[in-house]
Amino acid sequence: MQLENTLKNPYAHEYQLLIKNILNAPIYFDPKQEIVYRGEKRFTYATFKKRVHKLAHMLSALGVKKGDTVAVMDYDSHRYLECYFAIPMLGAILHTINIRLSPEQILYTIDHAEDDVILAHTDFLPILEQIKGRLDVEHFIVLSDDETIPSTSLHVNGEYEALLAQSADVFDFPDFDENTRATTFYTTGTTGLPKGVYFTHRQLLLHTLGVLSTLGTAPQQGSFHQYDVYMPITPMFHVHAWGLPYVATMLGVKQVYPGRYIPDLLLELIETEKVTFSHCVPTIMHMLFNSPKINEVNLKGWKVIIGGAALPKAMCKEALRRGIDMFTGYGMSETCPILSLAQLTPEMLEMNDDAQSDIRIKTGRPMGLVEIHVVDEQMNQLPRDSISTGEIVVRSPWLTQGYFKDQKNSEVLWHGGYLHTGDMANIDEKGYIKITDRVKDIIKVGGEWVSSLELEDIINQHPSVKEVAVIGIDDEKWGERPLALVVKDPTKSLSDKELLLHTKEFIHKGIMARESMLLKIKCVESIDKTSVGKVDKKELRHKYSA
Ligand code: AMP
Repeated sequence: MQLENTLKNPYAHEYQLLIKNILNAPIYFDPKQEIVYRGEKRFTYATFKKRVHKLAHMLSALGVKKGDTVAVMDYDSHRYLECYFAIPMLGAILHTINIRLSPEQILYTIDHAEDDVILAHTDFLPILEQIKGRLDVEHFIVLSDDETIPSTSLHVNGEYEALLAQSADVFDFPDFDENTRATTFYTTGTTGLPKGVYFTHRQLLLHTLGVLSTLGTAPQQGSFHQYDVYMPITPMFHVHAWGLPYVATMLGVKQVYPGRYIPDLLLELIETEKVTFSHCVPTIMHMLFNSPKINEVNLKGWKVIIGGAALPKAMCKEALRRGIDMFTGYGMSETCPILSLAQLTPEMLEMNDDAQSDIRIKTGRPMGLVEIHVVDEQMNQLPRDSISTGEIVVRSPWLTQGYFKDQKNSEVLWHGGYLHTGDMANIDEKGYIKITDRVKDIIKVGGEWVSSLELEDIINQHPSVKEVAVIGIDDEKWGERPLALVVKDPTKSLSDKELLLHTKEFIHKGIMARESMLLKIKCVESIDKTSVGKVDKKELRHKYSA
């Protein structure tokens, strides 16, 4: 596109939307403001900044340069936050490895992303040891809470803290084009092979500002502001913990990183660190509500975005009863992620809990700079009448350009010039979206995807299975879990137990994600088909989902 009328002044600084600029100027900068890890380690923002510079020195000493890829396997930690900054600030790409994938899938993503260095928490070294013969990665750095390296057959470069201590305090971060790739990670595709999405500095900065334009301007309910204390309860490998660590750092608020999720520790941190703003999937909230400690902690005033799956109404009402400001956020790996938030108008806040919950559990209204439509199969926009249901399609500055090294699926994703979410929804007159179903054939278990096609493939390999279809069914704890509808070969004998054992054998081999273990099996006479003879998953979900 030819730009006109720009009146370019060669003396003026050409400001690029780079991640380093978030760190240069948190909005409400207090160098003594804290970043806390598990309540055990505390760093001021001044120290955090110094550690980011040290990390950049450490990585460049290993040879990391612009365009290289550095992967991280860690729980939610101050170290991860340091990687969120130092790696992209070098011009390198941060690959946040999904530690819940099976070892084989992890190997695939490491290869596909072309990782040069891996920083791995001690808990994940066994996974790397299992696949080390097939890994083409030069350097491994150990992330250890007690700063020691356990015995490992991996050839490691050293431990993070020791290496940081040896590194200089000031790194001269370069300026470069804001359209440089900053992050990448993998989402489970319908075929089972993970697909890589990627985001640039410009996209992450605009997403940060977009979130602030919506959460930061809310007058009462659903806000994130300069006096909040932030604690993510969403894995940092999953879509940059919804981009909120960047928002928190831009704001300059106190940040609390909880490490591995232990319900009692999470509740303790909320209380002792006075956490006021978090986000998680419904399964984690279910875990917290079922922890015996829940009644010992005053959660009044805690603001929580629930996303990744629909917020159940009973959960929302329970939260409101406890004084928690719980509301929905919606997005996906492909969208950086946040697209919409279910914030309430002042009039809605006058309603009782039951009526408020009906709005809080909706999929929300689009954030600033997000254009959302529901469309029919011909891409016609449907009326906003709470009834007409179609696929959600999106435009926004922070959507992935496509899937990494996958032209075919990238074209399908952007068919017709809009990003296709694979989610079915309607929109009401006030602009609130409500997801009603999913077109994509995958199952979301506790916030992570399980490929139904892959499970079908495994079950089909049993000689006594004639036909199988796997769908997601409602589950109070996990949101969804996989159900295999199986037509057995009548000439052979096969018990459900045998079939489960057959499937779990594959899971144990590290081929399938662990969430597949939650598979249930139901034997049926036949499997519903559409008019063109395809398995009718929509009908099956309707029939069996509850
Ligand atoms: P992921 O790419 O793993 O982040 O998953 C994104 C998908 O999760 C979306 O396309 C939806 O199917 C589902 N999802 C995310 N947020 C919500 C929500 N608030 N309500 C219902 N489904 C959601």
